[in-house]
Amino acid sequence: MPELPEVETIKLGLQKYLIGHRIEGVDVRLPKIVQGNVKDIEGGKVIAVRRFGKGLVIDLDNDYSIAIHIKLTGQLIYRGPNLRQKVKLSKKVGGSLPNKWTHVIFKLKSQPVRQAQDKKTKVKSATQNSKATDAYLYYNDIRQFGWIRIVESSKLKDLSFFRDLGPEPPVTMSIGVQPLTLELFKKIVNSLNTAIKPLLMDQKRIGGIGNIYANDALFDAEIDPGRKAKSLSDAEIKKLYNSILKVLKIGLREEGASELSFVNALGEEGSYQNHFLVYGREGQKCKRCNGIIKKIILGGRGTYFCPNCQK
Ligand SMILES: [Zn+2]
Repeated sequence: MPELPEVETIKLGLQKYLIGHRIEGVDVRLPKIVQGNVKDIEGGKVIAVRRFGKGLVIDLDNDYSIAIHIKLTGQLIYRGPNLRQKVKLSKKVGGSLPNKWTHVIFKLKSQPVRQAQDKKTKVKSATQNSKATDAYLYYNDIRQFGWIRIVESSKLKDLSFFRDLGPEPPVTMSIGVQPLTLELFKKIVNSLNTAIKPLLMDQKRIGGIGNIYANDALFDAEIDPGRKAKSLSDAEIKKLYNSILKVLKIGLREEGASELSFVNALGEEGSYQNHFLVYGREGQKCKRCNGIIKKIILGGRGTYFCPNCQK
């Protein structure tokens, strides 16, 4: 499932391309994906895009917001005049847009927006004309586990996903998100008798970490994923905390891992999958000690570790 770095990558793309666009209409092809009344967002202009854990929020100027969770295989792909010229469209998108996995289409009008941000990257932007132009945001989802909720902006916090979300590792600028400090992390780890890896992935305890980065952080910290959280020493907790920040930052730098269906807001792949420390490396040599990476199932999820150097 896309995690903090993947969803942040989508957020940054949507911030760049979507802000200033007005929603003309919404074509809902698979009703179960969307909750709320799409009429409430028609005519609204996108003023902000935010991320909370693995969730996204698109804020409009009419006091409504669109909350989105892409879950396992959701994609949000922008097409319009703001688009930079060369897009390396991933095969994971399914060839053309829209396609049979496109369940919701937001029809947009681009508005003349600030031009300054595009100058450096030599992007030719049609928004430099004063005329509004058609643009689209496609929501694709092969497995159909994702959701889109239309809600009054003031009531976002009432949605259980946002209400129950734990503090998140401070690796991005996220306004309104409780940062997971080392002190807070210690408190959470010390108080629980569960295995450390499922704890890292429990969104109600800590927001944003999923299977890939939990595996890699534990490898980096040389901690066995099955260790009881309570059994970790202060030094181990500190090391793990720093490893979490480290792997998430590498994930952000690489613009996410394109496992399954993850692509950015243009439909391009990330490259963290080329930098996995331990995730997905069953039977291969440990990058640290040359031991052999083992795979077990822990908390129902594939768990990769080096029995030789993760204790
Ligand atoms: Zn090893």
